[in-house]
Amino acid sequence: MNYICVDCKTNYPLDSLKWKCECGGLLNFEFDKKPIDFSKTSIARNHSLWKYIDVLPFDENDVWQDISMGEGDTPLVKVSDNLYAKAEYYMPTLSFKDRGAAVLIAMAKKLGVDRVVADSSGNAGSSIAAYGARAAIKTDIFVAESTSDKKIKQIEAHGAVIHKVSGTREDVANAAIAMVEETNLFYASHIYNPLFWEGTKTYVYEIYEQMNGQLPEALILPVGNGTLLIGAYIALQELKDAGHVDKLPKILAVQASGCAPIYQAFEAGKDVVEPVENAGTLAEGIAIAAPARGSEILKAVRATDGDLIVVADDEIIQARKALALKGIYVEITSAVNYAAYLRFIDKYPELKEQKVVFPLCGAGIKSN
Ligand SMILES: [Zn+2]
Repeated sequence: MNYICVDCKTNYPLDSLKWKCECGGLLNFEFDKKPIDFSKTSIARNHSLWKYIDVLPFDENDVWQDISMGEGDTPLVKVSDNLYAKAEYYMPTLSFKDRGAAVLIAMAKKLGVDRVVADSSGNAGSSIAAYGARAAIKTDIFVAESTSDKKIKQIEAHGAVIHKVSGTREDVANAAIAMVEETNLFYASHIYNPLFWEGTKTYVYEIYEQMNGQLPEALILPVGNGTLLIGAYIALQELKDAGHVDKLPKILAVQASGCAPIYQAFEAGKDVVEPVENAGTLAEGIAIAAPARGSEILKAVRATDGDLIVVADDEIIQARKALALKGIYVEITSAVNYAAYLRFIDKYPELKEQKVVFPLCGAGIKSN
């Protein structure tokens, strides 16, 4: 079990608390996975993401048992004929980030860490703060000044120290990184720490089981830093490597038109994502102007023969209203996914006849 640099392939043990390679490269995570037996998971008494323990970097009886709040195993809700929403607002802090935070904080606990630093546009911060409280680990959370008050109150309620940073999302990340460098604290980053995706990958394992051992034809995934998309892609590869599926669903990714660096690189046929100026969007949760993992995201979309589009704020608002009139009240960023679906069926009419899944994260009450 170790971190491995994506560039120079240097290995680091987890207790090195590294978040980046000496060479500056990003770190991925490697460990020995056991084959997963779905006949066991389908009758598991533990209805949480931990029923996939065979593909997680923990043992059956391990520290996660004291930290879990029952995260995962969220319902698949039919939205229209072939369209399903994975209802991630059933999570302990109302967003899919709990998948990653539960795994990351459990590992921090196992490593004997007692204080962590994280930065977030909101939901990841809430999640790290909540699981930190659960694990008796102190949390320092860096947020942008523009973050909604409701999200900040939620983070504070868990006892986290809030650091408000004026400027861009990148300024927020840089302030967190400066503290990590100065103090040598554990960086509980949902962008740099690859353990986070070991949690978010369970999103796809659940879909596979909920669709009776099949995957949909397409997964619509919102992209800012790619926290869910990269985890989903890891799971798709694992399911394929283990012989559970032959063909992968297309990854249909979406960004907000006000801040779409990955879309721009995708359209231009580039492998590297250049930073953009955030021109502003209501979808604050995915407004990432300089995504650190841009190349990995592009690779995943292309490897599945997928696509990437942008949606505008007015489409997002319309989609949010339409979902609410179907009984589902989500936060603004999450409505991006339904707006994307409407765009994608316009672009690919055959999608209407195919099974499509997208996540609904957060909850309406989280947005101002
Ligand atoms: Zn390296």
